[in-house]
Amino acid sequence: MYHRFDAVVVGAGGAGLMAALQLRAVNTAVISKLYPVRSHTGTAQGGIAAALANLEEDYPEWHAFDTVKGGDYVVDQAAAETMCAEAVDVVYELERGGLPFNRTPDGKIDQRRFGGHTRNFGEAPVRRACYAADRTGHMILQTLFQQGIKHQVRFFNEFHLLDLLIHEGRCCGVVALEIATGEIHVFHSKAVILAAGGYGRAYKITSNAHALTGDGVAVPYRRGVPLEDMEFYQFHPTGIYKMGILLTEAARGEGGILLNGKGERFMERYAPKLVDLAPRDMVSRCILLEVRAGNGVEGKDYVYLDVRHLGKEVIDAKLPDITDFVRTYMGIDPVTQPVPIQPTAHYAMGGVPTDVDGRVVVDESGTPLPGLYAAGECACVSVHGANRLGTNSLVDIVVFGRRAGRHAARFVQEADLPPLPPHPDAFAREQVDKLLRGPQQGERAVAIREKLQAEMMDKASVMRQESDLKALQRTLGELHEAYERVAIQDRGLRFNTDLTETLELGCLLDIADTIVVGAQARTESRGAHWREDYPKRDDANWLKHTLAYRRDGGIELRYKPVSITRFQPQERKY
Ligand SMILES: Cc1cc2nc3c(=O)[nH]c(=O)nc-3n(C[C@H](O)[C@H](O)[C@H](O)COP(=O)(O)OP(=O)(O)OC[C@H]3O[C@@H](n4cnc5c(N)ncnc54)[C@H](O)[C@@H]3O)c2cc1C
Repeated sequence: MYHRFDAVVVGAGGAGLMAALQLRAVNTAVISKLYPVRSHTGTAQGGIAAALANLEEDYPEWHAFDTVKGGDYVVDQAAAETMCAEAVDVVYELERGGLPFNRTPDGKIDQRRFGGHTRNFGEAPVRRACYAADRTGHMILQTLFQQGIKHQVRFFNEFHLLDLLIHEGRCCGVVALEIATGEIHVFHSKAVILAAGGYGRAYKITSNAHALTGDGVAVPYRRGVPLEDMEFYQFHPTGIYKMGILLTEAARGEGGILLNGKGERFMERYAPKLVDLAPRDMVSRCILLEVRAGNGVEGKDYVYLDVRHLGKEVIDAKLPDITDFVRTYMGIDPVTQPVPIQPTAHYAMGGVPTDVDGRVVVDESGTPLPGLYAAGECACVSVHGANRLGTNSLVDIVVFGRRAGRHAARFVQEADLPPLPPHPDAFAREQVDKLLRGPQQGERAVAIREKLQAEMMDKASVMRQESDLKALQRTLGELHEAYERVAIQDRGLRFNTDLTETLELGCLLDIADTIVVGAQARTESRGAHWREDYPKRDDANWLKHTLAYRRDGGIELRYKPVSITRFQPQERKY
């Protein structure tokens, strides 16, 4: 089926919905493989950062400094300054849209502490995270979705992106599979905004929902768009042991602490100033160092998150959801018992490169691809550099979702409708037909995915080294070969999850390649990319962004400079 729109937004999480709201005046479609309120934004717990200064002195400049330092200086500083300045306004916009934030006694939006957010350029933790209990993302998503309904945004729910159309140097639409019917749809448009989220499912232990398979990253990559800084993947320190389900950093923001098997508050040794509120890359690494030193609980590979001293009242009022998770999934009560935790794959700092207006840029000098935009976790602006601070993703998705939407709204008013390539749906059909009509006996997607996730966890997670990464690259080669022979059992057209999950696996494999190749090349340690064989940050050679291009038979890496405006790289002490 053929559709024509001015703009198409792919993804209905915080970034996609925020973009779509800016495009109300033009003919816009939002396509989403999930029903919008099932998007991962809805699981975000702890908060959204903005220097409102409701409880204590704070400024966007301090926020920008923390963001740059938190990202280990491979952050584009102009973009970080834009985000931190606009954060304030966008939070008030959400409030006016109906978001039920927690309040101070005098009725202002309440704010709490979060890792790496400090007062006066690193002096001490500051209250910067605006929140709605520990379900901030849920409230953002509901607020934006209701605004979308109010403004009659046109949703195509349960439509799965298969291909991005680029013709004669312009983006001219997307091709998607309607999950309910198996029908292939061509969306012809002047602009496309990719807002399809992250790819935590590349790892075995992850906080990310099943749908986070990086489709909105892999699809443009296959069409020649480079991917930026893919080697930087964040592990959040406090996932439920063995399950990876997230326990928000707000638990520590509210005063929770980490304890090793000896009952020591070990973060005091590593980060004397911020202690348990040091940035996530550091805390995750410290947990693993403790485990290696034999200080895990009962000699095992986990430590404790302890919130008992906060008392039942505070826990129930400010951390109700995560308390529930722990009771449900572990059968223990955080009010009376410490909670076993381990680092969990959480957030993609890398993604589709964009400028501050969300325009996708395809080379080292920032040349935009006309009509193509990206925002949210699938994009790399880059405001998070090598490590994102907690609460900075929710602000990123709404600030840059809004900027991308506004720019695209202006663009489509001036641009004409570009022509489609001949047979625009051919590549999408080929992918689907190969699976639906191929042999029914062959490799199983489940087996390939499990091997991928286990190997990525083992060799490309918190600690990395050359020999492991090399071995992993070989394994990925084998998994790609196996994927060529993958067979699906379900031949039906309606709700064929066998088909969509296999397509998603293809995306994860392509993404894993770029993570591993980028990580091998980067012979230094910075932020979340920790090379045991190169334990120092190397600004002389590596203060630069990676761009990974898909080439026949492999990946070509290029590099582009980091924009530095105010904050000269310093040693990162907390
Ligand atoms: C458990 C958890 C807690 C978090 N807590 C916080 C927090 O407290 N503060 C914070 O700042 N950050 C937090 N984060 C991170 C933050 O929530 C995410 O980075 C952010 O919400 C991503 O938003 P998004 O709009 O980019 O993508 P998402 O909300 O993930 O939405 C992606 C959208 O893309 C669509 N999509 C994907 N693939 C396709 C396809 N093939 N075809 C069509 N549509 C597609 C999906 O249907 C979905 O609508 C948390 C993350 C997790 C996992």
